[in-house]
Amino acid sequence: MPQTTNGAAPAGAAPAVAPILEVEGVTLQYKTKEHLITATYRVDFKVYPADRFVLLGPSGCGKSTLLKGVAGFMRPVEGEMRLKGRRIEEPGPDRVMVFQEFDQLLPWKTVRQNITFALRNGGRCSRESDADEIAMNYIRKVKLNGFENTYPHMLSGGMKQRVAIARGMAMEPDILLMDEPFASLDALTRRQMQEELLQLWDDTRFTVLFVTHSIEEALLVGNRILVLSPHPGQVKAELNTHMHSHANAGSPEFIALQTRIHNMLFADRVLEE
Ligand code: ADP
Ligand code: MG
Repeated sequence: MPQTTNGAAPAGAAPAVAPILEVEGVTLQYKTKEHLITATYRVDFKVYPADRFVLLGPSGCGKSTLLKGVAGFMRPVEGEMRLKGRRIEEPGPDRVMVFQEFDQLLPWKTVRQNITFALRNGGRCSRESDADEIAMNYIRKVKLNGFENTYPHMLSGGMKQRVAIARGMAMEPDILLMDEPFASLDALTRRQMQEELLQLWDDTRFTVLFVTHSIEEALLVGNRILVLSPHPGQVKAELNTHMHSHANAGSPEFIALQTRIHNMLFADRVLEE
């Protein structure tokens, strides 16, 4: 049975474990000429080491904005975000983002060069040969060996996303930020990528903050899910879940949890209409 709790420490984590990321009462706004848009309002959550923490909510609920805040591209107007206890004030190689778009790779660089460039630019490696070795290691992890000298335009969408994931992981950030990384893929590739992400996580136990608007994807990818309501984005619920797989996605527990989250999200829609 999936466990559900509100705002508690993650299942299995001892209280003594320090969070990697703390988001406390964070309000993020955009100022345009005519409007002040409050994208998120007083959002709280904590991400612990090796969490697969999912931000789930409908389009426009501030998921990408929260990631921009964590990445250091936006400052909260209220509240604070801390990475390993230190207030986030600017971008850094300790937080790497993987985006939805297939054009996030440098088109004039090969698969391997895309990764070595990030490693050297981000200050992870000063020697090209070290960067090469790390790059090849992660290229193998995402099953792209044989394509290391290929340019992005020769790759499928799924392969491009694998490169972006390999590049992000190679940086060994404190937290990997993933903004709907599989949303532009066809259903079968998407499913495959979700499974591969879990295999990679099993292998390295990295910490990931993953954004999606798909309830199914949230349940498959995450061990903890923050459900957000829109306009402005606010925390609706926090759920701890056991690891689900495509194999048990049809199980009564999975469907019950899916329905429960759907009802949480749908309740907002009814109120808005
Ligand atoms: P999500 O990723 O959940 O779809 P976003 O974080 O992109 O949502 O957007 C949250 C809110 O902030 C939306 O109302 C959106 O219109 C607004 N917003 C996002 N980016 C900008 C921007 N650059 N300028 C002004 N408003 C923005
Ligand atoms: Mg978004």
